[in-house]
Amino acid sequence: MKFETCEIDTSKSKIDAGLLLMDAGVKAETDALYEAVKHIIPYDEWVAHAPYIAAINRMKHEKDAVILAHNYMTADIFNCIADFRGDSLALAREAQKVPQQVIVQCGVNFMAETSKILCPEKTVLIPSLEAGCSLAASITGADVALIKQKYPGLPVVTYVNTTADVKAESDICCTSSNAMQVVEHIAKEWGVKSVIMIPDEYLARNVAAQTNIKIIAWKGACEVHERFESKDIDEIREAYPGVVVLAHPECPNDVVRASDFTGSTGAMIDYVKNKKPKKVVLITECSMSDNVAIQNPDVEFIRPCNLCPHMKQISLKAIYECLRDLKHEIVLPPEMIKKARKSVDAMLNLPKMPANIYKVSNKIPADFELVS
Ligand code: SF4
Repeated sequence: MKFETCEIDTSKSKIDAGLLLMDAGVKAETDALYEAVKHIIPYDEWVAHAPYIAAINRMKHEKDAVILAHNYMTADIFNCIADFRGDSLALAREAQKVPQQVIVQCGVNFMAETSKILCPEKTVLIPSLEAGCSLAASITGADVALIKQKYPGLPVVTYVNTTADVKAESDICCTSSNAMQVVEHIAKEWGVKSVIMIPDEYLARNVAAQTNIKIIAWKGACEVHERFESKDIDEIREAYPGVVVLAHPECPNDVVRASDFTGSTGAMIDYVKNKKPKKVVLITECSMSDNVAIQNPDVEFIRPCNLCPHMKQISLKAIYECLRDLKHEIVLPPEMIKKARKSVDAMLNLPKMPANIYKVSNKIPADFELVS
C-alpha cells in the first residue's frame, strides 16, 4: 500500500490537447476555478484540463444539462464542472429536483440508472460505458428471484450499487448512509426477524454487527474497499502517530473495528468538516481525499491509494464528448423502471435521519447467513 500523495493521472485530456487548446479566453474563464484546485493539480496538467472545463461549462448551459458528480470523481471534475456533488443517496435526491432536461451522471452506471429510474422523462447520460462496478456486477435480477424462492416471506433490502433489474426484484433500496435504518424499518413493517440484504457481504456484516435482525447476505464486494486490511491501519497509525482513521462500511469488519469512525462518504466528509482532526486518513477510494482536502486546507491528509478503475473511466474528455454528442444515453424498459422505482421510492420516502455511524465491536452478530 502507498501512503504518499496519490499518483492519479488526472490528465487524460492531455492526449487531445491538440483538439482543445488553452488560450487567453479559456484562461480568463477558468482562472478562478484553478484557485480552488491549485494545491492538488499542477499547472502543467491544468493547461490540458482548462480548455475542456471551459467548453463543458459553456455547453451544459447550451444543452440544458446538469452535472451530478460522485465524491470519487477526480478533483478537476468534482470541483470545476460539477453542479451537484455527493454520495449515492444525495445524488439520487438531487436528480429528482433538478430542472434541467439532461442529466450527466459523473459516477458509475448504476448511479445513472438510478437517476433514470427517478426521472424517466429526462435524458440521462453516462460519459463512459465502461464505468461499471464490481458490486453491481456480482448479482442479477434472476439471482434475486432465486433468493426470494429460497427465503419466502422475507423482504429484500438492496444496496443502491446494483443494476435496475436487481432493484426491480427488490422491496427497498439502501445506501451506506441509511442501511441500518432501512433494515430495521423493513423488518418491523413486515413483522419479521430476518431480512435479505444484497449484494455487499461486508456492508451486510457491518450492519449485522449492530442489529438484532438476522441478515441473509450475498457474497458481493467492492473491489476497492475489500483490499483494505486491518494491518494497513496498524501501519498507518505507526507511521503517522495521532492520525484519525475514517473508514467506509464496504470495508471488511476488522478494518471497521480498527478505525476510529465508519460511515458513508457523506458522513466522512461531515466528520472532517465538523471535527477538524489535525491528521486524517480516509479508508476509501483515493480521489475523495483530494476533494475533501480542498474543502479543509487546515487538515493534513494521509493518502493510501486504492483507485476505483470504474470511476476513473469518467474523464473531462469523456464528459466533453458525451455532452457534445449527447451520447451514452441510459435506456431502460418502462416496466423495469416502474418496478425498480418502487424500491428506490420506498427508501427515499423514509424520514430523513442522521447518517449511520458503524460501531463494530467484537460482539458476534445476532445471526448472519451467506446465500450459497
Ligand atoms: S468504489 Fe467500489 S462500489 Fe464504488 S463503483 Fe467502484 S467498485 Fe463499485
